[in-house]
Amino acid sequence: MKYLIIGFSAAGANAAETIRRLDPDGEIIVLNGESRSFYLRLDLEGIFQGKPVEQLMPRPPEYWPEKGINVRLDRAVGIDLKKRQVAAQSGGIYGYDRLLIATGARPRKLDVPGCDLAGVFHYHTLDDALAIYDSRARVRHAVIVGGGILGLELAHAVLTFGWKVTILVRGSHAGSPIVDLSGSELVLASLQRAGVGVLFHEQAAAFEGDSRHLCAVRATSGKTLDADLAAICVGVEPDVSFLQDTGLLTDGKLIVDGKMQTAAADVFAAGDAALVRRGEKLVGCNMWNVASAQARVAASNMCGMKAEWREDVLYNLDSLFDQEFALIGPWDDRRLSGRAIHEFRTENAYRALVMRDGVLESALLLGDRTHDRRIRKLITQKARVEEKLDRIFDPDTPPDYFI
Ligand SMILES: Cc1cc2nc3c(=O)[nH]c(=O)nc-3n(C[C@H](O)[C@H](O)[C@H](O)COP(=O)(O)OP(=O)(O)OC[C@H]3O[C@@H](n4cnc5c(N)ncnc54)[C@H](O)[C@@H]3O)c2cc1C
Repeated sequence: MKYLIIGFSAAGANAAETIRRLDPDGEIIVLNGESRSFYLRLDLEGIFQGKPVEQLMPRPPEYWPEKGINVRLDRAVGIDLKKRQVAAQSGGIYGYDRLLIATGARPRKLDVPGCDLAGVFHYHTLDDALAIYDSRARVRHAVIVGGGILGLELAHAVLTFGWKVTILVRGSHAGSPIVDLSGSELVLASLQRAGVGVLFHEQAAAFEGDSRHLCAVRATSGKTLDADLAAICVGVEPDVSFLQDTGLLTDGKLIVDGKMQTAAADVFAAGDAALVRRGEKLVGCNMWNVASAQARVAASNMCGMKAEWREDVLYNLDSLFDQEFALIGPWDDRRLSGRAIHEFRTENAYRALVMRDGVLESALLLGDRTHDRRIRKLITQKARVEEKLDRIFDPDTPPDYFI
């Protein structure tokens, strides 16, 4: 059996390993669109602490050929579903019996002048992180475009470099969509304490340079900020444009069923590239562990087993700048009707519990995530806790009190 995998990150690498386990003799080819071997994208921040690249690689590069997994530095540019062939940038043609599309997400681009000046970066790949890190000695002023989770992560990561950092935030608060306005005060206070400038209701209108290198960022209000480095962190979108003419996309989206199968026979997809149909809803990935789990399901089905992806309760532990958070349960539709949001504030923490018809549905614990496991369990058990909220963060109350 010939397995072809496009993309070599959380989804692609996990799928390759799963296939090798299930089919010791199958031929596995992986098209790697980046010049690096498989690395942990979610740990890129470590580069700014001087971590060697190898520490971001859970497997040494020689592991893959040793396992009979043939990784080629090449990008897919098209698929011929009838002939079961993938055309690549190198001019090569790769045949398959089973295909996995694991091309993930790419950073959203800005359509403003000067994006191609030296000194203007995205923050998405290992090479991006290394390029930003390598320029640390010559940078004095940096502008980060975007105040979401990645913009804040980068602002935090470069703190020790002594740069004057300004973040342009499109809306009225930083940390969106994790926190809304009422929860963002903690994050803003942290940024201010660290001396990071934040400009709200501002976007980049142009990157300005002398001959080739960036000198300044002009914001939409007309304000001009000195800048030797700018980082564009305005979100990501599924990287599926090379599928445009294949008939695999519906309204530009790559949709799979619970088996991670696309509309085409023997073609699967997993990770940030795909949306999983769940009844009326299309569920995106956007998390490392989810991409890995989906890939294992896809790989099992590619090997002839019957596996189904089960959407677990979302459980995301991360930070907004230096404020750690736990995000548990569905978070996008928390403001929809039928939900009541209970907010708890202390000097160092903001916690929001979202209830639907008396049942705990989702939660954000920002600044103090001590009770994340208790809350996760209650959400998983669909516990009715509305009458007991006064003791929910009380460390002396035993967990069975809430059940
Ligand atoms: C800076 C950063 C920090 C993050 N931090 C966290 C975190 O803390 N926790 C968390 O859960 N998630 C985090 N994420 C998100 C997480 O990394 C992604 O959800 C995960 O990487 C998705 O995996 P994937 O395999 O679907 O795609 P990706 O990781 O996007 O990889 C897709 C790969 O496919 C390649 N590719 C694309 N097109 C082609 C083609 N045509 N041919 C060949 N190859 C191609 C790409 O170059 C890329 O290497 C972070 C993301 C970023 C960018």
